[in-house]
Amino acid sequence: MSQVVFLTLDSPEPPVRVDRVPQTHPAWIHPHLIESTDPVKGRQLRVSSLVPKGTCLLTDRPYAVIPVVDDPTINENLICSNPACNIRGIGLAERCQCPNGCIPDVVWCSRACKDVDSIRHEFECSWLKRYSKSIRTKRGEYEFGMLWVIVRLLATRQCELNDMAFTKESQLGLHRWKTGWEGISLLCGSPDTWSHERVRAWSNLVKKYLQNSPILPHGLSTESLLHLICQEEANSFGLYPRETGIFPIPESWPGRGEQFAAAVYPTAAMANHSCSPNIIHKPDDRGCMVFTAARDIQPGEECCIAYFDLTQHNNITSRRQHLQNSFGFICRCERCVSEKAPEQNSEWNLLPMMDIE
Ligand SMILES: [Zn+2]
Ligand SMILES: [Zn+2]
Ligand SMILES: [Zn+2]
Repeated sequence: MSQVVFLTLDSPEPPVRVDRVPQTHPAWIHPHLIESTDPVKGRQLRVSSLVPKGTCLLTDRPYAVIPVVDDPTINENLICSNPACNIRGIGLAERCQCPNGCIPDVVWCSRACKDVDSIRHEFECSWLKRYSKSIRTKRGEYEFGMLWVIVRLLATRQCELNDMAFTKESQLGLHRWKTGWEGISLLCGSPDTWSHERVRAWSNLVKKYLQNSPILPHGLSTESLLHLICQEEANSFGLYPRETGIFPIPESWPGRGEQFAAAVYPTAAMANHSCSPNIIHKPDDRGCMVFTAARDIQPGEECCIAYFDLTQHNNITSRRQHLQNSFGFICRCERCVSEKAPEQNSEWNLLPMMDIE
C-alpha cells in the first residue's frame, strides 16, 4: 500500500486529501503560528504577524484517538482504527472488525486499512481482550476510555520506535515543532497538577492495568505511566461534529453535537484556554484537529481555544468551577477578569452605601 505524503507546507492552505485512501496525513501549521513560553502559563501558541479572521492556522494529527460512543455495535459514528486514515462514520455494512474479536469499538473502514494497521493493533489487541470487560464493568466508560487512550499512545510510540508507517514530520520541514512522542512527552501535566486523591487513584490503575508486561510490552516505568495519565487528562480533546468556541454564541446555535471520540494532539494541545477564544476548533472527518481564527489576530497575540462548550457554562461561577474540576486551574482570561466574580460582588455589596442626597 503506497502512502500519500504531502509536501505543501509553505502553501497558505492545508493540503487537500483524497477520501477513502489509506494515507499518512501530516500535520499542517500556518507559517505565522509560533510556539512561545509564558512564565505563568508555560508553553503557548502565538502569531508572529496579523492573521485575518477565517484563516486556518493548524491541522494537527492525533497521536492517539479512540471512539467514544454509546453502543458500538449499532453506532455509525465509529472511526477507522488505522492512524493513517481515522475516517469517521463507518456504516454497519462496510466495517471490518478485529479477527480476534477484541472489542466492537475497534473497526476499520476497509480491509486495506485493517491490513496496514495490523502491527499497531496487535499491540493493543491483547490488552483489550484481557482487560476491557473488567475495566468497563468495574470502573465505567470514562476510566476505560482514559486507559485505552494511554494504550493507544503507547502503541503509536511503539510504531514510532520501530520506525513503521510514520511520516517523520522532521522530513516534512516542521523542525521548529516537537512532534510525535517527543511532542507528547513535552505536554503539560504532572502529579503536582492534580489532587492527591486523583493521583492515588490513577496510580492504582497504572499498577493494575498498565504495567510493563507481555500483554503490554512498553518498557516504561510505573512513574512514567502515571505522568502520562496526568498529561493525557490535562490535554486530551473531546471530538464533536461541530465547532467549539464560537463566541459570542450565535442565537439558535445548535451546540457542538454529541461527542464521538477523544484524542491527544502534540501541537493542538499547546493552546491555552480562554472563555472568549480567538480560535475556533473542530475535528475534520479524519480526526485531525483544525484551528481557525475566530477574528483578526494581532501580531504577538496569544491563540486560545475554549476547553469546554461555552453554551453549557455561561456564568463565571459555573465556568470557574468546571475548569478547576476538569483541568485544575482558575481561569483569568479577559472575559473572566472583566465579569465580576460573585465574591467580588459581595465584597462590593459590603461597602457602606454613600449618601448622595
Ligand atoms: Zn480506514
Ligand atoms: Zn483486536
Ligand atoms: Zn475565563
